[in-house]
Amino acid sequence: MWNGKKKAVTFSFDDGCRRDEDMVRILNKYGLKATFNLNSSLLGTYFLRDDNFKISPEEAKVVYKGHEIAAHTLSHPTLTKLPDDKTIAFQVEEDRLLLEKLCGDPVVGFAYPGNGDGATFDDRVVKIIREKTGIKYARTGYSTYDFDLPTDLFRLKPTVHVTDEKLIYLAEKFLALEADEPKLFYIWGHGFELDNGDGFDLSSFETFCRYIAFKDDVFYGTNRDVLL
Ligand SMILES: [Zn+2]
Repeated sequence: MWNGKKKAVTFSFDDGCRRDEDMVRILNKYGLKATFNLNSSLLGTYFLRDDNFKISPEEAKVVYKGHEIAAHTLSHPTLTKLPDDKTIAFQVEEDRLLLEKLCGDPVVGFAYPGNGDGATFDDRVVKIIREKTGIKYARTGYSTYDFDLPTDLFRLKPTVHVTDEKLIYLAEKFLALEADEPKLFYIWGHGFELDNGDGFDLSSFETFCRYIAFKDDVFYGTNRDVLL
């Protein structure tokens, strides 16, 4: 596990926004690895929150080269609000299969889509994804602010959101940690949040990446690399 190291860092970003290109450039500069959760039927469509077109299906393989592509449903519905179990399975599994075709690699990861309209997952949704799709792990949007390894791969809780004011504090804490058992620093968010005017921008992201990178006792991997 983790090349014999006790600490690992991973990133997870949703929605396939145009800003992902800049994030990948920075991640690559610092030897960091991320997972990008994509809605295959929305790729290339206009994205209001980014005021831009999302990464197109043709670009995805090139833009995310060296990182992991994971599923995020076909069209970003709130899964708990879909009454039909088959529709839930289709939203997830069809997205997974289309992304496998696009990127040419196995797709095994998933992030629950959220629309600010209630719970993004429940026991029914988890059961369907676990039993009816090829997904092996699923990330939620709830931060733990700790570095403990997740106990439930289908209700994964990351450490912290990328624009959270505790990000650097947690990075300091993580790097200072003398770990006897595996510890994971798991950062999540969306590319478009790096431009939303709350003070956290691309250069803040680069500062964080520079700070966390190139440590001899840390393994840097995609979500799949660190979880499976
Ligand atoms: Zn999303």
